Amino acid sequence: MFAKDAGVTPGLVEAAVLPRTTEEVATCVRIARKHGLPIVPRGAGTGLAGGAVPTEPGLLVVLTRLNEIHDVDEVARTAWVGPGLINLDLSKRLIERGLHFAPDPSSQSASTIGGNFGTNAGGPHCLADGTTVAHILAAEFVTPDGDIVMMGGEAPDTPGLDLRSIVVGSEGTLGIATKILVRLMQNPPDVATLLLGFPSIEDAATTVSQIIASGLIPAALEMMDQPMVQAVENFVHAGYPTDAVAVLLAEITGTPETVLDGTNAIEQVARRNNANTVRVATDPVERALLWRGRKSAFGAVAQKAPDYYLHDTVVPRTELVGVLTKIYEIADEYGLDMLNVFHAGDGNLHPLVAFDSKESGKLETVMTAAKEMVRVSVEAGGSLSGEHGIGLEKRDLMGLVFSEEDLDAQARIRDAFDPDGVMNPGKVLPTGSRCFDAAGVRIPT
Ligand SMILES: Cc1cc2nc3c(=O)[nH]c(=O)nc-3n(C[C@H](O)[C@H](O)[C@H](O)COP(=O)(O)OP(=O)(O)OC[C@H]3O[C@@H](n4cnc5c(N)ncnc54)[C@H](O)[C@@H]3O)c2cc1C
Repeated sequence: MFAKDAGVTPGLVEAAVLPRTTEEVATCVRIARKHGLPIVPRGAGTGLAGGAVPTEPGLLVVLTRLNEIHDVDEVARTAWVGPGLINLDLSKRLIERGLHFAPDPSSQSASTIGGNFGTNAGGPHCLADGTTVAHILAAEFVTPDGDIVMMGGEAPDTPGLDLRSIVVGSEGTLGIATKILVRLMQNPPDVATLLLGFPSIEDAATTVSQIIASGLIPAALEMMDQPMVQAVENFVHAGYPTDAVAVLLAEITGTPETVLDGTNAIEQVARRNNANTVRVATDPVERALLWRGRKSAFGAVAQKAPDYYLHDTVVPRTELVGVLTKIYEIADEYGLDMLNVFHAGDGNLHPLVAFDSKESGKLETVMTAAKEMVRVSVEAGGSLSGEHGIGLEKRDLMGLVFSEEDLDAQARIRDAFDPDGVMNPGKVLPTGSRCFDAAGVRIPT
């Protein structure tokens, strides 16, 4: 049950523990250390990069039972929560108070705040509000020695090194978050969601660039290509135009005046770029259905094939069309069934390849094509991951974006937290990343 996450690489589980308190987590870590076992933190296991998948015999520390909301401070707009709390449960529990937790990964009904912390998760509404790191103020943290320390704090500006920003997104390689202080945001007084259909990917991508260039930052700006729109429509009947080659979902939040102005501005840009469907939804039920379509996209792919590999690269928004064209060519060249749904406003691409892993050699073909898709994204000035992290699956591609010196600097930080390399070994950094000594002289291999 714990041998895999939502990615494609299986691991090896020798022992798993489900502690209920910080002290129990610290005890588990000390026991593992005493027996020389590596430690892998795990939330809900919805990660897509193999981050929570053990690669060698060790102790899997599953944090799902630390799922309490300890304290909500409505004045400071913060809450202390357990790492095992499911993302959406936090915002649901805060509805009466008019507050929410902004990071909204499409997995938010299953993924945990601790996993979001570990991967620095993004989501449709992170375009305007920022990814998880912008919403974590502090964390109680169990170090690889089993000590309990505090990273960050409740004060607006915590003195000293900002270790909080180092541990968020560290994919379980520096220690385990056992209590997290999250920032809460006020629910907006007014919201409108626009559904825009276009005759080409280029028209939709140009609309994205022109909206942002106009100075307007929508709350969300998501794109789907025709194969994905058709799969989603079959699955949830969200009312998407299946004849459109590309569909954009844009959301504007604020006062009624700003929402009206923003909606009109987006509509104008879309029409200038040949939009043939423009629908504005302000009714909560209609809006919820439009978002249900977007958030069910990965599930909809099950109609096509039993397995999927979900890519996650990020490119400059101006390169969206060029990179997508190359990605479609790569999928064609390898004979792959590919659908696209992505956070267009951030340039965060998610080509999704549907396949059957039982077909001989298929997974290998998918992975070979995946490397090429990453390469074209990086060549266009992009990066390896927009939000899912590096984990196991992108580890060996780190050299595409980092020099030896860069990797060595990251490995030195990891050494400072965990000199014995017991926390989530084999993840994020490729073997041999620590290649210079303190005087900058290459360490012989
Ligand atoms: C259908 C679907 C849609 C998705 N959509 C998005 C999306 O829109 N945006 C996005 O960013 N991701 C998305 N993901 C990926 C995934 O849901 C996120 O990466 C999520 O943050 C993982 O949370 P989790 O609780 O499942 O963590 P896990 O998968 O269990 O762990 C993820 C990483 O965090 C580490 N970790 C877990 N808990 C802790 C802790 N307490 N302390 C330290 N490290 C810890 C683990 O070691 C691992 O490296 C999606 C996945 C699926 C299956």
